[in-house]
Amino acid sequence: MTAEQINRVNELSRQGLGYKRIAALTGIPANTVKTHCRRHPVGGGKTERADAYCRQCGKPLTRQPKQKPRRFCSDACRMKWWNAHPEQIRRRAWYTFVCPQCGEEFQSYGNAHRKYCSRKCAADARRMGGGKGD
Ligand SMILES: [Zn+2]
Ligand SMILES: [Zn+2]
Repeated sequence: MTAEQINRVNELSRQGLGYKRIAALTGIPANTVKTHCRRHPVGGGKTERADAYCRQCGKPLTRQPKQKPRRFCSDACRMKWWNAHPEQIRRRAWYTFVCPQCGEEFQSYGNAHRKYCSRKCAADARRMGGGKGD
């Protein structure tokens, strides 16, 4: 695998995706993905899902309180990544939404049916809307 593929596998693995899913998304054989993930477990298992690594260079990101989690360490990395992955835009694996609760724009991976940016917002909306049932 190229360094870029490894980055991508690590990234997807951190998001909790299985080998098959990662293989399908990256075009890398599932066995290769599996071997790689076994040899290089990310973030020490499923309990601690690190969300703060640059997708481009893999550098850990410092997350500022009250700030949206970032996916790139810098604009340069962001540009590089999107330039290198134009198919990701067209494939529409990332869906962009505006959270009706807090008004923040957010993205969801491979899920076109998300409505709120977070569980908290969904819960808030339900509470404020006096949701029926539940
Ligand atoms: Zn970076
Ligand atoms: Zn929200």
